Amino acid sequence: MKFKKYDVLIVGTGISGIYAALNLDSSMSILMLSKKELTLCNSALAQGGVAAVMDKEHDDSELHIHDTMVAGQFKNDPDQVKLLVEQGPRDVERLVEMYGVDFDRNEDGSLALTLEGGHSRRRIAHHKDTTGFEIETALIGQVQKLKNVSVINNSVLCRLEREGSTFFADVITTENGAHEYYCSDNVIMATGGIGRVYGFTTNSAIATGDGIQLAYNLGAEIKNLSYVQFHPTAFADRKNQECFLISEAVRGEGAYLLNCNKERFMPGYEPERKELAPRDVVSKCIMEEQKKTGSDEFWLDISYKDTDFIKHHFPMIYEKVLEKGYDMTKEPIPIYPCQHYLMGGINVDDKGATNIPGLYAAGECSHTGVHGKNRLASNSLLEALVFSRLIAEDINAKKITHTNGELVDYDMSSPDGKSFPEGIPAEVRQIMQRSYFVYPDYEEAERGLKRITKLKELLDNGSFAVTAEFVETKSLVTVAYIILTEIIDRKDTDK
Ligand SMILES: Cc1cc2nc3c(=O)[nH]c(=O)nc-3n(C[C@H](O)[C@H](O)[C@H](O)COP(=O)(O)OP(=O)(O)OC[C@H]3O[C@@H](n4cnc5c(N)ncnc54)[C@H](O)[C@@H]3O)c2cc1C
Repeated sequence: MKFKKYDVLIVGTGISGIYAALNLDSSMSILMLSKKELTLCNSALAQGGVAAVMDKEHDDSELHIHDTMVAGQFKNDPDQVKLLVEQGPRDVERLVEMYGVDFDRNEDGSLALTLEGGHSRRRIAHHKDTTGFEIETALIGQVQKLKNVSVINNSVLCRLEREGSTFFADVITTENGAHEYYCSDNVIMATGGIGRVYGFTTNSAIATGDGIQLAYNLGAEIKNLSYVQFHPTAFADRKNQECFLISEAVRGEGAYLLNCNKERFMPGYEPERKELAPRDVVSKCIMEEQKKTGSDEFWLDISYKDTDFIKHHFPMIYEKVLEKGYDMTKEPIPIYPCQHYLMGGINVDDKGATNIPGLYAAGECSHTGVHGKNRLASNSLLEALVFSRLIAEDINAKKITHTNGELVDYDMSSPDGKSFPEGIPAEVRQIMQRSYFVYPDYEEAERGLKRITKLKELLDNGSFAVTAEFVETKSLVTVAYIILTEIIDRKDTDK
């Protein structure tokens, strides 16, 4: 087979993939892959914003580091946290100055910084409640101007092999099922999260953990995959089985959590931090309150605030919730916890490099160690920016013999075979909901792991046709397998 060679292959066009491309030297030939359309990703869904010390008069790095470590239950890597916090403001400035990202401003022109749970200072730069979409579209606009970058959407990386120092990629075009073949000595995995391994998630449809599965099968170290964050407030109306995030910033601006009796309960669990305790704490309090009242009905109420204030700060949430029949300026809205974010992933160092030379990982699929056991709100966009720039700088510093589409011979097995059995993704989601939602149920996890192990053996060893659906299913099974194995291994140490 002939593989088209590029200097760098970036898998993913979320903020981490695109910011890496923008920071790579313009002499590099770069190929970027996106599984679906460019804005279908977790980046475009980010509401709250980017956390960084931008107001040096009222905030400093030590405070941001401390808040990050407290939220992460001190399981964070302190050196990586320092790197993130100290370098972050530079990247936020670059978003504005170089790429035209439009953050909300105060009347005097300074950044209007908001507050989210776990932050001791107002330090979240944001664009109303659609920050991710604003950054993503601004960066996409910039990358599309670059002549050295080719971006192809509807293209799923389904197999990745390595021979010598080169990675060989089998990519499926989803429109017609055709296979395309590419290779590179530098691969950046920027494939995002794993939310679709759960039934209840805020994540976009692309979040099936493909990059983690492909890196794992290449021998990359995967770390802390059981560090999954459950957001306490997803819109959860039992009538429409759809989850979408109600940003932490709504609580940051004063919303109360209410139980089924419409009573405020957080002060009883967390007298000081109340609704602004870190999100893992709030999610656990909701589950405790559920045990107490026997009801899974919960509400978020900001209706006591001025109507214009609510509509101005949360226009997207206001509209989405209104579509579902609730006017948040007049009444509480129904909420429930949801899988939201992955702290673990493909383990990387302070340059975003994995244990496999030439393989990097950035953004949600990576484990940099900055988040510890629980991510501090709005630190993930910051992580995606800082570490993807560091990856680009590391690749820029390499002596590369440039290539631009030259063809390289390599033998990869045929992608043909029989169809894999239907229904596996739904089964995986049911197992994960039962085994580990907010906190683990060890009996269910042991039972679930036995079944997941069987499914993994089937998909790893069966001769199945390599399709986009097959790679996503294999990814869900592999991710569930790693998470449940870790949960059980750490049963006595990691409660
Ligand atoms: C609802 C919501 C709200 C959030 N709010 C915030 C917030 O306010 N602040 C904050 O800091 N963080 C927030 N987050 C988290 C943050 O948005 C994500 O962690 C971050 O954007 C991830 O960026 P990424 O580039 O790593 O992945 P993504 O943006 O998810 O991009 C992944 C890319 O990989 C591609 N891809 C995946 N698999 C393949 C494959 N096999 N082949 C080809 N391409 C592939 C996808 O097509 C996509 O382009 C939020 C997340 C959600 C879901």
